[in-house]
Amino acid sequence: MTKYVFVTGGVVSSVGKGILAASLGRLLESRGIRIAMMKLDPYINVDPGTMNPFEHGEVFVTDDGAETDLDLGHYERFTNTNLSQKSNVTTGGIYNAVIQKERRGEYLGKTVQVIPHITDEIKSRIRMLTAEDEDIQVAIIEIGGTVGDIESLPFLEALRQFRLDVGPPQCCFVHVTLVPYIEAAGELKTKPTQHSVRALRDIGIQPNVIVCRTGPHRLAPEQRRKIALFCDVMDEAIISAEDISPIYAIPLNMKRQGLDDIVLRLLNLEAPEGDLSEWESMVQRMGALEKRVKIAAVGKYVEHDDAYKSINEAFTHAGVANGCKVDLTWVDSEQFENGAEPAEVLREYAGILVGPGFGTRGVEGKIRAVRYAREAGVPFLGICLGMQVACIELARNRAALANANSTEFDPECADPIISLLSEQRGIKDMGGTMRLGAYRCELKEGTKAGTAYGKTVIHERHRHRYEFNNRYLEQMVNAGLVVSGTHPKGDHELVEIMEVKDHPWFCASQFHPEFKSTPLKPQPLFRDFVKAALAQG
Ligand code: GLN
Repeated sequence: MTKYVFVTGGVVSSVGKGILAASLGRLLESRGIRIAMMKLDPYINVDPGTMNPFEHGEVFVTDDGAETDLDLGHYERFTNTNLSQKSNVTTGGIYNAVIQKERRGEYLGKTVQVIPHITDEIKSRIRMLTAEDEDIQVAIIEIGGTVGDIESLPFLEALRQFRLDVGPPQCCFVHVTLVPYIEAAGELKTKPTQHSVRALRDIGIQPNVIVCRTGPHRLAPEQRRKIALFCDVMDEAIISAEDISPIYAIPLNMKRQGLDDIVLRLLNLEAPEGDLSEWESMVQRMGALEKRVKIAAVGKYVEHDDAYKSINEAFTHAGVANGCKVDLTWVDSEQFENGAEPAEVLREYAGILVGPGFGTRGVEGKIRAVRYAREAGVPFLGICLGMQVACIELARNRAALANANSTEFDPECADPIISLLSEQRGIKDMGGTMRLGAYRCELKEGTKAGTAYGKTVIHERHRHRYEFNNRYLEQMVNAGLVVSGTHPKGDHELVEIMEVKDHPWFCASQFHPEFKSTPLKPQPLFRDFVKAALAQG
């Protein structure tokens, strides 16, 4: 029978629940426990796919094509769980399902209400997570938002009921809160945590573990005791979570304080001591990197650090694989449309990345940056939109197709090198309708991609509507295009990854390699890109 750990957040948002949940997952897995992970998000969007990544952070894509919250990226990077459509549920998704059932007449005669219908739907989604896999011992379920928010109430009420449904020893509640340091008083303050726990208890939930985010400070024994006393939690279950870098060291800090032991005891589970040696040595290597390599990510100006979370993390992993720290700098592409010379601005970087994106803004500048990378022999990695602009650049400057473009940016362009995927024609709804999730890609041996992966069949994840237009294939190959991987699709092959001939390292993929990179398994394209950049630097 599956046991459940619910992770809630208190005092402020961005308190690190996702990484804490992922860290606990790592610790339990290291002890041989089979886990599943899930995030419940209180917003009304059915999924985050329609939200602006510059506000909400990256949209993470699973193998089965779910567009999910970026915390799921942490879950996959920290643990071995396989996430799916079932792993991220939002208020919008819950209401959507309940309203559809109501329309079908499934509640005939009844008034449909938050309690019990919405809460029942939430509970059934939690059960569905593990329904097909009896071996899962612990499901770790993070609740987005902050306790006290109006939005998260139905979720918390559902959890209160769930605990009684499955029996109290089957569940435990971990509350992650902020314990701020007040300069004038010279100490950490526990009162906000006390209030937050009171708000949780008002709803009928008593936390069993409190993880205190304390900034750069450590919780002193008397503060620990105070929180324990006021919040009715055992002393040892008050965990001090000071800021730690890299984030991959957080599971080790949690281990030192026995978080896994406490949780196992609360759930009445026994497991042998875990083996974290591989993880520890990875963290150690990550902390001891001396070499540095500078890479420019050319794109729209990025204010939100989380907008390209998986790309940032993939570079961290690739750096460790190459024994160096990757300094990734975001370079605004629009400046190249306003007179700035790519050769001037980008000279100091050993590699250039053009990442995913939507919409016209900054695209012409990206194309100029690609031209510089191609002509100057600077290692280049393109991802999704990055591959599309690389193709446009090559078409314009090597295949004499001066008006080449993507129909996304110029629907009437003379040479649509990039055009809408055939199955996208006629699609009007924006939510969940892109080409999403993992697809098979067959690599050509002897290409940069073939060498990087060391195999000929790979599966990588997608999120796009446009593709390379095969009408131009021959002309482009003559101009120096190397198609290094394709997806067989009925009567034709989709270009999934391309290179340019006679270049030290130039790869651009229609898929998103960043989603499958983990610190223990750095992604091959990122790894070889950083390697090529190092060789230049
Ligand atoms: N806008 C492009 C498309 O839809 C690229 C998408 C992306 O970079 N994720 O095909």
